[in-house]
Amino acid sequence: MTYYIFKDKTEDKIQVGKLVCLARSYIKHAKEMHTNTTEDPLLFLKPTSSVIFNEQSIIIPKMSKCLHHEVELGVVIGKKCKNVSQKEALDYVLGYLVCLDITARDIQDKAKKNSWPWTIAKSFDTFAPISDVVLKDKIKNPNNLDLSLKINGKIRQSSNTKYMIYSVERIIEFVSSIMTLEKGDLIMTGTPEGVGEIVAGDKLEANLGNFCFLKVDVK
Ligand code: MG
Repeated sequence: MTYYIFKDKTEDKIQVGKLVCLARSYIKHAKEMHTNTTEDPLLFLKPTSSVIFNEQSIIIPKMSKCLHHEVELGVVIGKKCKNVSQKEALDYVLGYLVCLDITARDIQDKAKKNSWPWTIAKSFDTFAPISDVVLKDKIKNPNNLDLSLKINGKIRQSSNTKYMIYSVERIIEFVSSIMTLEKGDLIMTGTPEGVGEIVAGDKLEANLGNFCFLKVDVK
């Protein structure tokens, strides 16, 4: 069992549920990947077994020669829901976190070429580092949050969730039109531009404004 850690130590134990991830949700990232954005969000799943926390390590798997970092806003679902409208979407949010969607880019590139699913590229153990959760009432507008990633002290990704193509409300509406969202599910909303390689020894520090902080290294 994997449980969230809360910034304010006020919540009960909440298990990490399914990880629903968006791809190509920032125009500049879609461009750097030489691809297009889509009208509806593009989704894939990561397993809960990928989750690690602050001060833990991303482990480079033997199968990959090229891991990439993707810093993202994570939305933690607080109540079971299905077919939620944008208007009521935030009622179902428990809180937010900053996360990394670690990707074996070489495996993903091969999958894309062959029209295979991305599951292997996205699902190794340690490929979903997540920060502590900040409760929803601390963040008035999730659609205007600074998001950044430093590697070895140098800024590698820096953006704001206002540049996402889809609002958090629209994402919840869309995802919940497909699958029931349950308490503890995590939506990883996709990365802005600036993705790149990480190698053994790197130290990663991700921030969501002044709300959430995540520090992990690579082994
Ligand atoms: Mg991603």
